[in-house]
Order: sequence, then C-alpha cells, then structure tokens
Amino acid sequence: MRKRQPTRCPRCAAMAVRSRAGAGRTTAYKTLPCLQLPSELPIPMCTRCHSQFVPTSRRTKVRLHGLYIEELQRRTRLAISALGNVRSLRKIEQLIGASQGYLSKLRAGTSNPSPELTLLLGLLASSPKQMLQRADAFWAQPTDDGLNLATRSAS
Ligand SMILES: [Zn+2]
Repeated sequence: MRKRQPTRCPRCAAMAVRSRAGAGRTTAYKTLPCLQLPSELPIPMCTRCHSQFVPTSRRTKVRLHGLYIEELQRRTRLAISALGNVRSLRKIEQLIGASQGYLSKLRAGTSNPSPELTLLLGLLASSPKQMLQRADAFWAQPTDDGLNLATRSAS
C-alpha cells in the first residue's frame, strides 16, 4: 500500500497532517472533555503543531458514541458499587426515583445509563454516606423553605 502524502494543517498551515494510530489520545465528546480514543483508531494529526482532527464521518461518530456509552456504563458501575457498600440498591432506587432492579441492570451492564443518571450516581458516590444523607434531607423537607440551597444560604 502506498503511503499517503500529508495534507495541509488548517491550524498551522504546514503540509504535515497524517493519519496515525497511538495510545493516550482523547477527544471532547458530549459531556466528556476527555474521551479516551482507542489506540488502533487512525486519527489525522499534524506532526508540526500536534493538532488532532477527529473525522466527522458517520462511521467515526458511531464509534465515538459507542465509546461514550461504554464510559457511562463503566462510571455508573463504579458509582453503584461504592453506593452499594453503604445502602441497599433498592433503597437507593427509591431515593432517586428509579424503577426496582434498574441499578442492578446498570451494574450488570445490560442497560445504558443517561448522562444525567451517571452524573447523579457519580456525585452521590463521591462521598456516599454524606451525600445519601443530604439526598434524604432534600426529599424530607415538607416545603422548599428548609432546602439547604446556595441561593438561600448566600442571602
Ligand atoms: Zn499543524
């Protein structure tokens, strides 16, 4: 196979853009500023200014979306594991308004979490005991007068 000629870099104008595989590369995708790219995936890169140009083809978009879902699943599994050490999954499902068995499905990787749920579980798991108590207290207030929100404590 003939080696492709480099193309012009839109950032630095050098004729130095070539497709390359490589480890340790990331790209911003949806909620993730640093989605890990597979090391075998060829990505056009400038050898002069090191700019990276992730292809916008349908094939690449499908691949990136798959990687994104895998990352959400991975983070969700870790968060559920941390939360499960503190409280039963059924009680956590009740607390966050999820259907019975949903967290078990997510932990088993048989369901795709939304970014919203991934973030919620990640925040709760950042300090499970304390955050679950705060979530309990949030729902326990009969009116919004007692909510411990920054807008109220700042005044
Ligand atoms: Zn360049």
